[in-house]
Amino acid sequence: MTETKTDKFTLINELARRRGFFWQAYEIYGGAGGFVTYGPLGAKLKQNIERKLRELFVNKLGILEIESSVITPGKVFEASGHVGHFKEPMVECAKCGKRFRADHLLEEYAKISAAEAEKMSLTEIKQAIEKNAITCPDCGGTFNEPQQFLTMFETTIGPYSGATGYGRPEAAQGIFVEFNRLYTIARERLPFGVLQIGHALRNEISPRQGLIRLREFTIADLEFFFDPETPNCHLLKDVENETLPILTAEKRLKGSDEILNITVKEALKQKLISSEWQAFFMAMAKKLLIEIGVPAEKQRFIEKLPWEKAHYSTQSFDQEVLVDRWGWIEVSGHAYRTDYDLKCHMEASGVDLRVYKEYETPIEEEQFVVKPIMAKLGPVFKAEAAKVAQLLASVPAEEVAAALEKHGYYQIQNYKILREHVNVSRQKTVVRGKRFIPHVVEPSFGCDRLFYVALEYAYHTKDDRVILSFPRDLAPTQIGVYPLVSKDDIVEKAEEVHRLLVNEGFSAEFDDTGSIGRRYARADEAGIPLGVTIDYDTLNDDTVTVRDRDSWQQVRVSIKDLPELLHKYFSGKINFEELGTLVQAK
Ligand code: AMP
Repeated sequence: MTETKTDKFTLINELARRRGFFWQAYEIYGGAGGFVTYGPLGAKLKQNIERKLRELFVNKLGILEIESSVITPGKVFEASGHVGHFKEPMVECAKCGKRFRADHLLEEYAKISAAEAEKMSLTEIKQAIEKNAITCPDCGGTFNEPQQFLTMFETTIGPYSGATGYGRPEAAQGIFVEFNRLYTIARERLPFGVLQIGHALRNEISPRQGLIRLREFTIADLEFFFDPETPNCHLLKDVENETLPILTAEKRLKGSDEILNITVKEALKQKLISSEWQAFFMAMAKKLLIEIGVPAEKQRFIEKLPWEKAHYSTQSFDQEVLVDRWGWIEVSGHAYRTDYDLKCHMEASGVDLRVYKEYETPIEEEQFVVKPIMAKLGPVFKAEAAKVAQLLASVPAEEVAAALEKHGYYQIQNYKILREHVNVSRQKTVVRGKRFIPHVVEPSFGCDRLFYVALEYAYHTKDDRVILSFPRDLAPTQIGVYPLVSKDDIVEKAEEVHRLLVNEGFSAEFDDTGSIGRRYARADEAGIPLGVTIDYDTLNDDTVTVRDRDSWQQVRVSIKDLPELLHKYFSGKINFEELGTLVQAK
């Protein structure tokens, strides 16, 4: 990780500040690490990236989109396991008090891989720091004992100190806790998916990578629910011949970093990806990245090792993109969350989050039936007896019967159910269906990282000029409108053309400041795909020149045809040369 003054990260951050894409927030107070403000161009670009995500996932797959709150009652993240697991190892300098991510220090100063560092215990971290004589990068001091730092922002909800709340570190739980309502809205049919794009908060220990590691960022979590007994993806045909560049966990464990370029179909056949839906979303994620300007060969999917996976996942892949300063960075995570989250929330809330599936032909089964004896539950659990009975009804009777048989009691939440509290019997019944917890695969995108890679891959120079060659449907501003000179009639005509384009729904910017060459240069640097210039000929024949940002070629187009041609151009139906007649650039 060598840091040079002119690497793309530095150049992009400088350009972003100067042109108003983004900058560090709260600058007048010295800035706050891990927080950014997106300026006018940046806000637009970010909206366009989010629009692309929606186009790809919501509109085409009929996925539901919701918006839930950022502040979340503590109970939710206790149940989901985040309070116990959402932690990073941290060390503090005994001399200057600065705190660092211990695994990052080991990576940088002891060349211990991220994968290795991630599985180390606090004692092993301490030993590695001592063995490699790592001291504070800021003052050279030694470190105190490493400790685990909870990276969720904690607060109290309202004026009651006991009402702990957390800033959500992901948007997924906002979906899981609303499962029952969403399932009803989805007309009680599986599979279905729910997307949430919104702010997530993570109290990162030392965010020093600009947009890549923020304390407040935008996450796009898509939870896709399906029946594990019918796990086939009916859309697989659309992507099965797509190639996925995969580095498997098996290869990584053998110390290899060989990428396997394998089709979706083959990856599933070889069981490299355990869920068809997960494979489908990985192919879609690759497509999304290509559409925002990252070529396929600059992307890869890394399968997480057992100790790197989030606590809720059975198989996880990180989609990574190669960037100039930081090497491979994760832009999206793909996790097979199984029934983990719904199960946790079902147990903690006591609310049944299972769905009912009717069998095609009813079957006769001998089943356990567990009936609470209220006369026994009442004296033991008092006011909570009804709740205990309800909880018992929400768990499989076989599970209760087996526990009573084996241990003599069944524990549900804080309640200990004894044999004498219930009647257990076996009954022959005709079973028409069953209740089960759906499984979930989750693609999760960091929108700020998508933003950064879109910017880095758009960035290039030509004749010492910076051009941001965004894909045309991503550019924050679509069209620049320029009067060639500042003569009244030409300016008036240019204003008229600008109004026409704005009324047609284009994002068009009027610029009459400075020489035309300077205006073109400014537009290229802001990534504006097309420039429309009004000149002397316009006054005679009602035509304008349209200039291409990337080739600097110009075509002559009549104003009356302009809106239709531009609509076709921006929806990708025609290319630049088809807009009009090529002319010599002026
Ligand atoms: P995770 O839940 O950790 O897999 O995160 C999901 C996605 O969010 C990642 O793939 C990243 O793109 C993004 N992300 C995670 N942490 C941050 C952060 N601190 N700043 C910006 N983006 C992040």
